[in-house]
Amino acid sequence: MHGSINMLGLAKRVKAKILQASTSEVYGHPEVHSLEESYWGRVNPIGPRSCYDEGKRCAETLFLDYRRQHNLSIKVARIFNTYGPRMQAHDGRVVSNFIVQALTGRPISIFGDGKQTRSFCYVGNPVEFTIMELAETIIEPIGSKSSIEFKPLPMDDPRQRQPGIGRARDTLGWSPSVQPREGLSKTIVYFDNLLRKQCDGAA
Ligand code: UDP
Repeated sequence: MHGSINMLGLAKRVKAKILQASTSEVYGHPEVHSLEESYWGRVNPIGPRSCYDEGKRCAETLFLDYRRQHNLSIKVARIFNTYGPRMQAHDGRVVSNFIVQALTGRPISIFGDGKQTRSFCYVGNPVEFTIMELAETIIEPIGSKSSIEFKPLPMDDPRQRQPGIGRARDTLGWSPSVQPREGLSKTIVYFDNLLRKQCDGAA
């Protein structure tokens, strides 16, 4: 958040445009389905993931305040579960975890019952998957022998998440061009090459 204030101050001084890479986490545990920009969100302010969620919410507030008060040219993009080639293999996100587990034949770690949903964004996508469906969509094309292993659901893990992209489509003329199967297959190829290089390096 301090970083945001510093960057907003800099943008104001040099009269630059500034974009905040915000997150779908600002919506928390939504009571509505298909998340529109107008929805205010439902975030637990004192839970284990609150510092991230509230930090991003507070940064959004600052961005909008700087626009109101200093007429700064700001943009806020709420990014939903992005994935694709060049993501980190071990940062703990679900797509990279499942692909690396499937490629190496290790058990697929499903937190909770796997019925929670996310909409995975290869730079933007409203198609919603349960985590169980995601696991199946990754295991199948790889032909992996990985088993499925259920683990406890982390606290405050949102149950359902899908972006409403109507406004982006109407005002920016944007719609997703890469569908999940294609995006996942590119990501699988990326991780397959990465793991092979690591094996060659170790040999
Ligand atoms: N998840 C899972 N297994 C994993 C990593 C994540 O089942 O190895 C679940 C997690 O509980 C959540 C979803 O996948 O419901 C997306 O998790 P991620 O950390 O990638 O993103 P976020 O929770 O921030 O949407």
